Amino acid sequence: MSKKDYYEILGVSKTAADSEIKKAYRKLALKYHPDKNPDDTAAEAKFKEAAEAYEVLSNSQKRQQYDQFGHQAFQGGGFGGGGGMNMDDIFSQFGDIFGDAFGGFGFGGGGRGQRRSSKGSNLRVKIKLNLEEVLSGVEKKIKVNKLVNAEGVEFTTCSTCRGAGQVTRVTNTILGQMQTASACPSCQGSGQTVGKRPPGVDASGLEKKEVVIPIKIPAGVEGGMQLNVQGQGNSAPGGGVPGDLIVLIEEEDHPELIRDGENLHYNAYVNFVDAALGSSVEIPLVTGKAKIKVDPGTQSGKLLRLRGKGIPSLNGYGTGDLLITIHIWTPKRLSKEERQLLEGLRESTNFAPNPGKDEKSFFSRMKNHFS
Ligand SMILES: [Zn+2]
Repeated sequence: MSKKDYYEILGVSKTAADSEIKKAYRKLALKYHPDKNPDDTAAEAKFKEAAEAYEVLSNSQKRQQYDQFGHQAFQGGGFGGGGGMNMDDIFSQFGDIFGDAFGGFGFGGGGRGQRRSSKGSNLRVKIKLNLEEVLSGVEKKIKVNKLVNAEGVEFTTCSTCRGAGQVTRVTNTILGQMQTASACPSCQGSGQTVGKRPPGVDASGLEKKEVVIPIKIPAGVEGGMQLNVQGQGNSAPGGGVPGDLIVLIEEEDHPELIRDGENLHYNAYVNFVDAALGSSVEIPLVTGKAKIKVDPGTQSGKLLRLRGKGIPSLNGYGTGDLLITIHIWTPKRLSKEERQLLEGLRESTNFAPNPGKDEKSFFSRMKNHFS
């Protein structure tokens, strides 16, 4: 079967200028567009035929080859075997060649169809909190540079989607033609494009502005968590839904307290005289201090618990504890007098280690406390 001449298909002369070829193709593409001719295989064939002809004649190199060798020029390569272009090729060609100016990309119904509102992009910030702020929750005012809709921008109805905000693509699949709708590439779904705009305003009518956003951070957050502040991200072009502000929480280390979820840990050092005689030690809290009693005969590794002195749970169910591990501090240097005193105690039977079950099960107790 001999193939139809590409010039004939487009209805132009062999000497037609590029603009003429483009115009002719645009007319045919609109006429035979699958959206306008649903289930019409003849129209689809014409649509494909025109696309193929245009693909060759719009490219000076291909056109020259075609003029010289006819369809032979493209056997095997290009559209070899006469299989023609598939719909995806054709539609991507629309975007490449006609760009925003071409109205045939989709026929969204000129506003009759449901308009997809565009969405602004998300904005990300990091916030570093100290333990006090984590304990009580805090409101932070943060400065961000975000995209906002600029004043004095003139909008016109998007020519690609004709204001619908979405474009429909028809693709051929094994199951037949499939229609998929997606946000219009020209206006990102807003249905409008920017005409006149003041300097500093981008092509979607947005400009960067420094704004201060107050953010409420609940008590109990942890480093690595992300808070989503809805609608505080970048504005959407044309006044759609703004994006979100995503706040990444970072935690400052406390100089003395170690956080483990809702619990806090503190390592208390007690000299062995205090541990033997009994004493009290001062414990730092997140805010303020507390004194705890050290019983006479306290062993190294003993765990004490201050209930409710940890971090409140994020979901509001209770508060963690402050766990204190007692460490017996052994003096590193001794004076002569101290040495004599201790030498006198060395042989005392009470000083011989004699761990009971309690002390031996230290590690299992640790496990229970920490879990
Ligand atoms: Zn559009």
